Amino acid sequence: VAKDAGKRTYRVFSSEMVDKAAEQVWLDSNLRKALVATDQLSLYYQPKICLKTGVVRSVEALVRWDSPERGRLSPMQFIPYAEESGLIVPLGKWVMQTAAKQAAQWQAQGLDIRIAVNLSARQLCDSTIVQDFADALRQAGLIRCLIDLELTESCLIDETLAHALILQFRTMGAQVHLDDFGTGYSSLSKLARLPLDSIKLDQSFISSINEDLTSQAVVRSMVAVAQQLNIQVVAEGVEVEDQADFLKSIDVDSAQGYLYAKPMPVKEFEDWLTNRKKLRLVA
Ligand code: C2E
Ligand code: MG
Ligand code: MG
Ligand code: MG
Repeated sequence: VAKDAGKRTYRVFSSEMVDKAAEQVWLDSNLRKALVATDQLSLYYQPKICLKTGVVRSVEALVRWDSPERGRLSPMQFIPYAEESGLIVPLGKWVMQTAAKQAAQWQAQGLDIRIAVNLSARQLCDSTIVQDFADALRQAGLIRCLIDLELTESCLIDETLAHALILQFRTMGAQVHLDDFGTGYSSLSKLARLPLDSIKLDQSFISSINEDLTSQAVVRSMVAVAQQLNIQVVAEGVEVEDQADFLKSIDVDSAQGYLYAKPMPVKEFEDWLTNRKKLRLVA
């Protein structure tokens, strides 16, 4: 029996390793292909809503990949691999270029909307990141920079580098946001030293604010610190009205989440926005 169990354990462990290796080989060749003929890639847009006015001035761009073989893959299924392999650099360029073109198109339609793109730590380490960002803006013919950046706490590990890059992006007219705030290891003093426009409170805090007083206290104090430092606060993953009410009561600036809208393809977002404006006019 012991021998059987041993064998079984061995087999499971080994097949997991084989699976992971096979998955990496699949991802590598297929993501490379997707980056050449980029019709498999698309950006979805999720609005950020001003809690005081209800106005939408910006959206977050979230990448989607439709593989002919496997169908829709979520970013969690391929971003970590793209980071490991370095493919996040060309993928990130495609995201910046596509978002910049979209912003230019909205601008031409008279829609004043900023688009935030997510950056991985690996992209910040790439020596051409600032140039790539500038190129994307220029190629799209954006007169005013309408592209913002969402960094995670792992982007701030090399603080000197992060500081210099944030300043350069801001000089170019981008706003810089700190994503998933509260889940990493940055200290509050680091937050005070970096020239950030906003923090995005991670959805893990938001999901529990109405069930437990501890999360309320944690959210309250993170918001208080940001306010002291003149940094805007965005709440992510807002799903129900009660959460929005609490966030409003403590003067959180804006919110994002399924309560308002899921990430949507361009056309669907435009319809959503038109509809929302109509509703506000009749209200
Ligand atoms: P993130 O930047 O923190 O984005 C928020 C994620 O939460 C998105 O997942 C979004 O669809 C989801 N979300 C939004 N509202 C709600 C809500 O009310 N409830 C729940 N449960 N979820 C909500 P998504 O699109 O699957 O993206 C996951 C992560 O993948 C992103 O987290 C970001 O870290 C990464 N990612 C996505 N696109 C890119 C990209 O272009 N570049 C890089 N480097 N990373 C990206
Ligand atoms: Mg984000
Ligand atoms: Mg986030
Ligand atoms: Mg998050």
